[in-house]
Amino acid sequence: MIPSDFDYSGLVRPIREDIIHIDIPIPHVLRNVNLYLFLGREPALIDAGPFHPFLAEVVEGALRYAGSSHLSYLYLTHSHIDHFGSADRIRRSTGAVVAAHRYEAPRIERVRSRLRREYRCYADLSAALGFPKEVSDSVFSIAHRWIELSEPCPLGLKLEGGERVPAGDRLLEVVHTPGHTAGHLCFYEPEEGILFSGDHLMRSITPNPELYCPPRQGRLTGLPQFISSLERLKDMRVETAYPGHGRPISNVRRRIDFNILHHRKRLEKTEEAVMEGWRTVWEVALRLFPQVRDKPPDVDHFLALKEALGHLLILEEGGRVRRREEDGVWRFEPATARPN
Ligand SMILES: [Zn+2]
Ligand SMILES: [Zn+2]
Repeated sequence: MIPSDFDYSGLVRPIREDIIHIDIPIPHVLRNVNLYLFLGREPALIDAGPFHPFLAEVVEGALRYAGSSHLSYLYLTHSHIDHFGSADRIRRSTGAVVAAHRYEAPRIERVRSRLRREYRCYADLSAALGFPKEVSDSVFSIAHRWIELSEPCPLGLKLEGGERVPAGDRLLEVVHTPGHTAGHLCFYEPEEGILFSGDHLMRSITPNPELYCPPRQGRLTGLPQFISSLERLKDMRVETAYPGHGRPISNVRRRIDFNILHHRKRLEKTEEAVMEGWRTVWEVALRLFPQVRDKPPDVDHFLALKEALGHLLILEEGGRVRRREEDGVWRFEPATARPN
């Protein structure tokens, strides 16, 4: 329980006269989740914050403090539980119509059955990726605890990208930026050139690409889509981007170029790892992220695996490495090597 005299003022800060930033602390290396509240004729909120009951109370308290007992819309950038966890509580207490990209609907509206299905699929894929069973079992038992804490939320509006939606007295353009998830959305306010960038563009970290399990349109990784979605933002006039975690980004173009370069360098390192003789996805993940080697298994191990897989599959598609299957395990080797 939160003490009744808890001071919410430290979590709430105006970024424009009619836009309020709500800063929700989370017990995770990302440290916080950002919510953005638009005041005016059609009060609206971007993202709902995390799923934990205690944190949901913080979100509600901060919204009350910011003066929002009624919301017309709650826009969700994507279907990760740190962004939509409190959505249903907010919907019930404010009457908001909850909106997200239609591709995100299964994870938001039927989160428990959907995540169970995805975790089963990941577990089945683990052997092919060379992910050790004891690590995979521990990681997915942590993930299953999240399922119990997640609350499904019905969507009142399913978006595609390209729409204009009301937020306070402003209109936001909906920009579909797939890659981190299939239906990730950014929201763009063209008058002032401000972009609410969710997890697609952040100030100090690059997001993890989606692992589509089962594959989506024949693809397992969202990494190529993620890079094209970054390229797309380059054509927009953005003065400031307000991300889903961390501080605002003022030099948006430079951050986009940095992220694209970062992935290019990681692609080179992945190719080097294969040249050096690291063969399975998990081996390459340990080569790219040696810091996870000595840590007790947690979600970072899975994130490392997804990153390595994404880069290996791009190299495979570009003909720079090739994959063969040996006893059910995928092994990557330089494209020039002769099979044994
Ligand atoms: Zn996310
Ligand atoms: Zn996030």
